Amino acid sequence: MAGDLEGKVALVTGSGNGIGRATALAFGRENAKVLVSDIDIAAGKETVRLIEKLGSEAVFVRADMAEESDIKALIEATVKTYGSLDCAVNNAGIEGEILPIAENPVENWERVLRINLTGVWLSMKYEIQQMLGQGGGSIVNIASIEGLIAFPGASAYVASKHGVNGITKTAALELMQSNIRVNSVCPGFIDTAMVDRLVTPVPEVTEVIAMSPAGRRGRPEEIAEAVIWLCSDKASFVSGHTMTVDGAYVVQ
Ligand code: NAD
Repeated sequence: MAGDLEGKVALVTGSGNGIGRATALAFGRENAKVLVSDIDIAAGKETVRLIEKLGSEAVFVRADMAEESDIKALIEATVKTYGSLDCAVNNAGIEGEILPIAENPVENWERVLRINLTGVWLSMKYEIQQMLGQGGGSIVNIASIEGLIAFPGASAYVASKHGVNGITKTAALELMQSNIRVNSVCPGFIDTAMVDRLVTPVPEVTEVIAMSPAGRRGRPEEIAEAVIWLCSDKASFVSGHTMTVDGAYVVQ
């Protein structure tokens, strides 16, 4: 599709499953070199196998987005393996426990914020250091429609994703003159294990999706296409954008 990602180096965090895997595979199809990262080693290695099956290059590095040392080592490993970091997709995230604020343990709040927001901020910090040194790059953070609107019971997740959109815009302002573009994608309900996990404690989610404008979950590949475009030179004047890919969910 984009055509200009051939030979570029792409890092996708949380790419063992779901949206991350679909995005890593999409980079593979574009003939980019893909750094696959996750805490789930078996799933990450399977993503690498699927990319190699497409005839493209990929390697797996385990990294926990809750750990600054892992994040720093991941960026270093990417550059050591492939020589640069052209596209960084900060995708790893968790939903946490769905509970009203009054009943929500602070441990849940801290864990969700640590992985979903601090993890993205730290990832950007080390990605940007590399991209400044090499003269450019593109970063896409995977936020959510919950970075734009709220859902009851999801205070930590909603706060983390609003935060991701905020730091995306901040970084875009800091970096536009340095040839680094920073955008976020806000998926609606997508057909991944995360939504499967949500449906058990909150069965109404199934009904909400059925009654949404699209009447279905999105496919992880539909998110991946948006990420690929944002990373490509076709989006050369796009930065600081929060792109909803949600089947018209938030405009209802
Ligand atoms: P998923 O649970 O299917 O996959 C998430 C992946 O991230 C898994 O492979 C998991 O092992 C990995 N991961 C979890 N914690 C990690 C950590 N600490 N360090 C490294 N990797 C870790 O989820 P998904 O639906 O593919 O979600 C991907 C991203 O998209 C998340 O940021 C999520 O918040 C966001 N998102 C998902 C939806 C949806 O409907 N599925 C909607 C909006 C936003």
